[in-house]
Amino acid sequence: MADTPFPTGTLMAGKRGLIMGVANKNSIAWAIAQQLAAQGAELAFTYQGEKLLRRVKPLAESVGSSLLVDCDVTNDDQMDAAFATLKDEWGEIDFLVHAIAFAGKDQLAGSFVEQTTREGFKSALDISAYSFVDAARRASEMMKDGGSMITLTYLGSERVIPNYNVMGVAKAALEACTRYIAADLGPRGIRVNAISAGPIKTLAAAGIGSGRHMFRFNKAASALQDNTDPMGVAGAALYLLSDLGLSCTGETHHVDGGFHAIGMPQETALRDSLAE
Ligand code: NAD
Repeated sequence: MADTPFPTGTLMAGKRGLIMGVANKNSIAWAIAQQLAAQGAELAFTYQGEKLLRRVKPLAESVGSSLLVDCDVTNDDQMDAAFATLKDEWGEIDFLVHAIAFAGKDQLAGSFVEQTTREGFKSALDISAYSFVDAARRASEMMKDGGSMITLTYLGSERVIPNYNVMGVAKAALEACTRYIAADLGPRGIRVNAISAGPIKTLAAAGIGSGRHMFRFNKAASALQDNTDPMGVAGAALYLLSDLGLSCTGETHHVDGGFHAIGMPQETALRDSLAE
């Protein structure tokens, strides 16, 4: 790969995998894709609808991929078609990246107990958690010689984050799904892990109320006193998806500058940051 800021090498040479969840160049899945390609992986992409194809196609081409399939994860026919295409083209795959989540904007602001509707709850859990179960089952059928899968989660699953609301519940489900899938697929040599990333400026993050406060507070209250770098998330993905991650499965790995480890932030850091 020309001019990549990502460490190049051969850790993923000879491996093929599917990336689900690139919307644009800011997507976490795109940072992961670039890192995997820089280590020699061959990539296929799903995209959500024709509107996103315009953005995803040139990105895919820049890492040498022309295998792109339209796939809304709520649509069984599209899931069938996407995995059938992948099977026709490649037969087998080695890895899966699931970086998909959605909740209606009305569900991501204000009081969780007042705002959460039955439809909002069902849709958030369907798109953000069940879709990983569905994709993992389909991908595992194409992993004849073991494999590795990751999904993306957030600390809102473990602790209350203002406005994250039903998405926190969906992420808790997603992390539990990760453990159950890991147990089921482990005997077949397939590892399944989640990366819990700190806040990163993407389309999905923009949908969550009080974003500015979230980034400032995260910076102040994390051990590294900085926001999460997508390259760090991509590096963790490389570890988990390559043979470096041997023996690691069922794990939720935090890549958040150590925010999850801090019980009480330093007073000075908090004051300076909140005053910015
Ligand atoms: P993003 O908006 O770039 O990516 C979200 C992706 O989900 C998009 O590609 C979108 O097309 C896809 N998607 C949504 N509904 C879909 C559907 N019905 N069918 C198919 N695809 C669908 O944002 P991102 O921040 O890169 O999000 C990727 C993952 O990372 C998500 O699971 C998100 O919750 C997680 N995450 C994000 C952050 C953050 O701060 N940005 C932090 C931790 C975890």
